[in-house]
Amino acid sequence: MKNLFKQPTDRLPNSENNAFSEFDSEFDTIKRQFFESSQFLKILLDTIPSPIFYKDTNGVYQNCNDAFADMILGIHKEKIINKSLLDLPDEIPRELAEIYMQADQKLFDNPGKQEYKAIVSCADGKQRTFMFYKSTVENEAGVVIGLVGIMLDISQLEEKHQHLELLSLTDALTGLFNRRKFDSVFPQILLPSQNKQTLLNFAIIDIDNFKAYNDQYGHDQGDLVLKATAKIIQTHLKRSSDYAFRLGGEEFGILFYSNNETDALRLAHQIREDIEQLYGKTHNPGLATVITISMGLLSLVSHNNEPEYIYREADKLLYQAKSAGKNTIFRKIL
Ligand code: GH3
Ligand code: MG
Ligand code: MG
Repeated sequence: MKNLFKQPTDRLPNSENNAFSEFDSEFDTIKRQFFESSQFLKILLDTIPSPIFYKDTNGVYQNCNDAFADMILGIHKEKIINKSLLDLPDEIPRELAEIYMQADQKLFDNPGKQEYKAIVSCADGKQRTFMFYKSTVENEAGVVIGLVGIMLDISQLEEKHQHLELLSLTDALTGLFNRRKFDSVFPQILLPSQNKQTLLNFAIIDIDNFKAYNDQYGHDQGDLVLKATAKIIQTHLKRSSDYAFRLGGEEFGILFYSNNETDALRLAHQIREDIEQLYGKTHNPGLATVITISMGLLSLVSHNNEPEYIYREADKLLYQAKSAGKNTIFRKIL
């Protein structure tokens, strides 16, 4: 590998007599250098752990590295070269092959570079997220003759990113979504295009007498109440379309669909009763401060109200529930 980058000498055969032997040794040098260069490239490509491929304009693989053969298609390189994805139906379904070839075509139509993210089913059966970096290859005349691509596995980065995003939208104490998530979800769910078959309900829940409870039993015990309340709320909101948020302090928000207003009110009362059961006076006669919840519940029949208006209306109902003596639900159909 020592002479790898040595340029071929520009000395030409200088006499008729030794022309052939000069030419021979020149040719040998070029041959050796060519061999070393291609060996270097081959070893370099196979050492890179990221899948790399080279296809012609018909989508036929002209070359690929070990990582591409092993990780992506799971077959030997020789079985890939001179084939297109359409020739490998056992390794890649036709629909997928066509999607990849469409992306290639887009690059050929607009030569240069192309980057995109895609989830790929790998040979080991695992799905991985890859960034594809592709470039067109031209011949001496400047005509596009193919493309090279390298795939960077970003699955771990993606996972970390999703985890961080989830953390930033989750309340650490209760595990419910936080206010930030509420602020983004609430207006979206209220969009008129959303589910109209069933009734959307929104409620603000506030723990009663929480300050007194905290003062009496300490902040840590208060935290346990917040956790237990969140858990009870969650056990009643199990559908994927349901949302539960800790809006702040001892205040929670719920969004859920029901068949009708009666069902919605029944679910709200089940949450209230479960908390009463856990912390209320009847079941805890020894408690100096009982914990219950009050709720302002809205069943949203009309789809034309602004999120701020809906929030204010629910808050008003909650205030009425507090004024009426707490441990109760005030509701309205909007
Ligand atoms: P009401 O029955 O009218 O709702 O009165 P309240 O005492 O529940 O409401 P208030 O707003 O007077 O007090 C809320 C308390 O919640 C005060 C605050 O210290 C407590 N709190 C807020 N966040 C947390 C928390 O994360 N942990 C604990 N333990 N307490 C919290
Ligand atoms: Mg309160
Ligand atoms: Mg409050």
